[in-house]
Amino acid sequence: MNNLNEEKIIKDVLNFGAKYAKPFKVDELEFSNKFRDYCKDNLCGHYGTNWMCPPGVGEIDKLKCDLMKFTKGVVYQTIHPVKNIKDRKETDRIRDTHNQFTRSLSKHLKNKYNTKDIFPMGAGPCVICKNCSYIKGEECIYPEEAISSAEAYGIDLGAILKSCGLKFNYSEDTLAYVGIILFH
Ligand code: SF4
Repeated sequence: MNNLNEEKIIKDVLNFGAKYAKPFKVDELEFSNKFRDYCKDNLCGHYGTNWMCPPGVGEIDKLKCDLMKFTKGVVYQTIHPVKNIKDRKETDRIRDTHNQFTRSLSKHLKNKYNTKDIFPMGAGPCVICKNCSYIKGEECIYPEEAISSAEAYGIDLGAILKSCGLKFNYSEDTLAYVGIILFH
């Protein structure tokens, strides 16, 4: 048990480049299968193609149990200028930048606090490899690097943002992406 301090982690997350960061307790998270059902609709085209997306990421009950091993969390947002919010290529690029931020942040916190017990979640699929090994039925190539999304875990992001006083977006010419860091 590391007993990391939420206020310190918030400072770290903001210093690392997030615009907003707020604390929450992991047992306050709300879960719903409906977010996984949205994944099944496959509007993003990644359903069933990625270890970090349903169904490869696992069943919601098991994922929920895994998250409940942590007690504290920080939800944060990175804000990015966007030219055309309807341009999927542009928004995917921004999402990948946000996920890279989340991976680097997680590494930074693990090193700083000398712990492995930092659990990050980003947005959308994992795109570290050009083609995820899930498609070939092979194991994940970079399990230490791969991060899943909060939605794939069935987390109600709207509820956690609202309870923390955050919004999904802040202006028409910027895009906000949400990340979560869990710890003890
Ligand atoms: S690291 Fe590669 S194999 Fe693992 S989930 Fe990401 S894309 Fe798939």
